[in-house]
Amino acid sequence: MTDPQHAKYIAAIDQGTTSTRCVIVDRDGQVRSSAQFEHRQIMPQQGWVEHDPLEIWNNTRRAMSVALADVDLAAADIAAVGVTNQRETAVVWEKDTGKPIHNAIVWQDTRTTRLCERLAGEEGFRRWQERTGLLINSYPAGPKIAWILGHVEGARARAERGELLAGTIDTWLIWNMTGGAEGDRGDVARHVTDVTNASRTLLMDLQTLTWDEELCEAVGVPRQLLPEIRASVDEFGVVRQRGTLAGVPIRGVLGDQQAAMFGQGCFTEGTAKNTYGTGLFLLLNTGEQVRISGHGLLSTVCYQVAGEKPVYALEGSVAMGGSLVQWLRDSLQLIPNAPAIENLAREAGDNGGVYIVPAFSGLFAPRWRSDARGVIVGLTRFADRRHLCRAVLEATAFQTREVVEAMVADSGVELQALKVDGGMVSNELAMQIQADVLGAEIARPDNIETTALGAAFAAGYGVGYWSSLAELAAQCEVDKRWQPEMDRAERERLYAEWNRAVERSYDWER
Ligand code: ADP
Repeated sequence: MTDPQHAKYIAAIDQGTTSTRCVIVDRDGQVRSSAQFEHRQIMPQQGWVEHDPLEIWNNTRRAMSVALADVDLAAADIAAVGVTNQRETAVVWEKDTGKPIHNAIVWQDTRTTRLCERLAGEEGFRRWQERTGLLINSYPAGPKIAWILGHVEGARARAERGELLAGTIDTWLIWNMTGGAEGDRGDVARHVTDVTNASRTLLMDLQTLTWDEELCEAVGVPRQLLPEIRASVDEFGVVRQRGTLAGVPIRGVLGDQQAAMFGQGCFTEGTAKNTYGTGLFLLLNTGEQVRISGHGLLSTVCYQVAGEKPVYALEGSVAMGGSLVQWLRDSLQLIPNAPAIENLAREAGDNGGVYIVPAFSGLFAPRWRSDARGVIVGLTRFADRRHLCRAVLEATAFQTREVVEAMVADSGVELQALKVDGGMVSNELAMQIQADVLGAEIARPDNIETTALGAAFAAGYGVGYWSSLAELAAQCEVDKRWQPEMDRAERERLYAEWNRAVERSYDWER
């Protein structure tokens, strides 16, 4: 095993929805090397999204090798490796051969909707919210595992005989990294997950952090299929693949949004981050208390260090974030590329009374209105594409404010500043609008690769490469801050108009 005092770097695997990366960072948290490979999005029918688990595993191996080779490093130079992953994506495979019995069912896939409606029953989708922190809908991984067992011939019987293993992508990768089914090493392979990933299955009790027998039974997932649950900063075995990170211990595992919290240094109660990607993902650290939301948010494990109490978070996501910018570009063709939205919106000066409510498939947190559909309101002869561009950036900011208000109401914690990351934060006007609409400071870090950084932080902290969470938080340097410039009356007037616009989107789909 490598000695953390002499090894110079930490590695992180960032297994995302569209690609897999391996990133190597130094003691200052600076990225020294990065290798990335995309994988196929398999869509057998409307609403179904699958990935090939073997393709993802191969990409992970290649990314590990290339990231090392590019900067002439060997595994001995790496003190530890962390893993972060797309959450809620489920894989079932054969213990003896390592062959998946079905493609991975991806988090966005809606095929379990009907099963989830049955599980929710008369009590409704909040039935298990106290126990799991989650709402019963198509996202969690547990029902996806049950779907595979129910649809692959003989799978349920094989699962009960102990011939199969299941898990989220972290579990699949770690099992393979630690030896997989290869020859006599089969017994060495670790079948493990961390608390943050386990908290997205609908099968884990959020208080005890153990698999809940009753839930496993109700959902239809035999307990022996499931991995051992460990803390996020913990021991997950040692990499065994030659030519990659052989001999390096896996010491940190976090779901992608929790990794972004870790990479943003959100370690204390009341700290929050918003990731502006395709969708928006907001998390607020609520400390050692589970806060069950009365406003349509999820409760989840933020992270846990082995031997310490878990830290929890409230989470709210918005389906249409950067994807609304893409819609303006691809479907309406009003802008040639995403960055072009900034100057056009700036030229508009204000929204000219125009609001876009992107309820393209209903409204999610915190409103949960499946009857809503998208609307553009306030159009006059005066409005042009510049106002629509402005309205798109404002819609992102207003939706964020709605989730933040729900978090404040649920937690009683007042938000002082919001840390931001994701592709859209390069848009400076969008960040100013966000500060104005929220009435709070917006802080963008130097390194916006917060997900990979978070996994590296967790692993490095696990082996003592970094000695404290405070030291890690100090590494999160802020590149730019935006303060609210709008006066309070104007902020509230705009928000009230937004709320009127949202009401216009209701009661459309019947
Ligand atoms: P994901 O990880 O979900 O694929 P990213 O974090 O890479 O997303 O962010 C990409 C999203 O950000 C896209 O939806 C794109 O439309 C949006 N985006 C990128 N640059 C800008 C910009 N300058 N202004 C507004 N939106 C942007």
